[in-house]
Amino acid sequence: MVGSSIGTRPDQDEIEISLFGPGYGESLLLHLGLDYWITIDSCLSSDTDEPAPIRYLKSIGVDPAQSIRLVLATHWHDDHIRGISDIFATAKNAKFLCSAALRYPEFSDLVELSKTLMTDESGASEFSRVMNVLEERGGRTRRASIGPEFVLAGQVLDRRDTQLDYEIHALSPSNASLTLAFHEISNRVKEITTRVPGPRGTKKRIVAQPPNDVAVVLWLKIGDTAVLLGSDLEETANPFTGWTVIVDSSVRPSGKAEVFKVPHHGSSTSHQPRVWEEMVGVHPLVVLTPFLRGQVLKPSFSEVTQILSYTPNAYITASAKPKRTKWADRAVEKTIKETIINIHEVPRVMGQIRLRKKHPSVRNEEWMVELIGSARRLELAHT
Ligand SMILES: [Zn+2]
Repeated sequence: MVGSSIGTRPDQDEIEISLFGPGYGESLLLHLGLDYWITIDSCLSSDTDEPAPIRYLKSIGVDPAQSIRLVLATHWHDDHIRGISDIFATAKNAKFLCSAALRYPEFSDLVELSKTLMTDESGASEFSRVMNVLEERGGRTRRASIGPEFVLAGQVLDRRDTQLDYEIHALSPSNASLTLAFHEISNRVKEITTRVPGPRGTKKRIVAQPPNDVAVVLWLKIGDTAVLLGSDLEETANPFTGWTVIVDSSVRPSGKAEVFKVPHHGSSTSHQPRVWEEMVGVHPLVVLTPFLRGQVLKPSFSEVTQILSYTPNAYITASAKPKRTKWADRAVEKTIKETIINIHEVPRVMGQIRLRKKHPSVRNEEWMVELIGSARRLELAHT
């Protein structure tokens, strides 16, 4: 990155949208003016176990304990949830919000089960720790009344209507996707509680489903500027779930977004052309994170091409190309390949795409794009 503003905090009247991603993992950090910060999902820094947004805030001289006001978990997949309980424990002034799919009572059963099954990397164990923090803060309040706050489509999560106005709207999860998720969670609990124990050492990933259909998509209105944050919501064949129900909604806020966080790591399964035509402006500023795990690599070359057909202003936090070490010796390479099943999972460098501009009520200006660490233009995603 050229320039010297990297270590500086935004001005009080400056908006910031930062997207973090090391290759596997995604986290968003928003500054909505007046030292009001929001974190959405979480991933860990490459070299420490500190959540990326916390580390960054400290580096620019912002106190996360005082300044983070909302901590939102859009869904509970591993790549969006790691470290979120640490963020919430640090953010003493914050409310915790998550998808209403987690309201289902049997999700608590899943959380309890995860403790006994020792699924150390599942979203359930992060939620279990979030619940502990909520209980500590709740004091003598009854467990059922202490939160989290459950998000569903149509809600306004927060707003400031005076100086430096903003509104945060939830566009998902839809009613139909919640009903489907409830059935799925219920079946999952039954499946686990009746399962014969597997071989020792088997890691059970109990909260991998329901998939991304219940993820929270946000519409941010800042003055007359709009931002669409797509989380991992995928398009479905069912018109009452996925992206179609959002595009067709008569109650969603009007206008077209000038910044679009592309859903689900740019995968074709999340692509809905009507979102680009009806909800996003011409040549929007587009940001996304890759997803590299085992044999799964997103976005693919064709998925990158598809996004670039809509806009030349697209950025990704890290390379989406599988990293292969160049072995000096063929015999060594053979041995290593036999030992390491997942050759793609080598440590990667955290990338951050930072967008800043003055609140539109102060001055009308373009977004300033800063690329930090492994972040790059989307054209270079496979380099
Ligand atoms: Zn994801």
